[in-house]
Amino acid sequence: MASALRPLRLLLLGAPGSGKGTQTARLLKQFPQIESVSSGDLLRQQIKAGTPLGQKASLYISSGKLLSDELITKLIITNLSNRKWMNSSASWLLDGFPRTVKQAELLDAELGRHSAQLNLVVQLDVPENVILERIENRYVHVPSGRVYNLTYNPPRVPGKDDITGEPLTKRSDDTYEVFGKRLKEYRRTVTPLIDHYAKSGILEKVTGETSDIIFPQLVKLVSEKFGE
Ligand code: AMP
Repeated sequence: MASALRPLRLLLLGAPGSGKGTQTARLLKQFPQIESVSSGDLLRQQIKAGTPLGQKASLYISSGKLLSDELITKLIITNLSNRKWMNSSASWLLDGFPRTVKQAELLDAELGRHSAQLNLVVQLDVPENVILERIENRYVHVPSGRVYNLTYNPPRVPGKDDITGEPLTKRSDDTYEVFGKRLKEYRRTVTPLIDHYAKSGILEKVTGETSDIIFPQLVKLVSEKFGE
């Protein structure tokens, strides 16, 4: 099993449905010293708990729109700080945040103050026709963020999470209509974000149609960063 020699601070970038959640789960299994946070999972947990933030978030999520940069950045930075991830020796990965240049700049500034800048950004490049096919079959376990696909990665017991046995749900924003809007939002925001990270020299891209093709490429990049 791989072990971390240097801290990894990774951002996974990719369209909705490109497999960020699936790749995250696989990376965490392979590199147990890495932890992760997903902005979408955090928001869905707030919605499930019925918090004021959750109520606000559900309006945006159900229409496929992005939350304000200030609001989401505050949520994530508080989370990073509570988990002591601002400590420059921690290894972690972000999924779904930052999504805009403004968010990236706010995060850069905060991490910079702690000498804990991102040191790897990987763009998952999956063809859109593959993504659209996947999304119809996607189910999630909200408390953990575990993702299942009825075709490629079905739960052992239909409709139940493998680990807890709790029910799986379909995301309310995985409908044809809302998903189209999310993809549009992604296309609108991704190019400036890619440019932002390309400038800092930490951007890599992995391409493929399946999780099994993408994953080894990702492991290679992460291992290189760890110095193995
Ligand atoms: P995801 O699970 O990453 O696809 O996120 C689901 C939804 O949560 C998005 O469509 C947005 O409405 C919201 N969201 C998640 N991350 C962000 C972010 N970084 N900035 C703004 N909105 C976000």
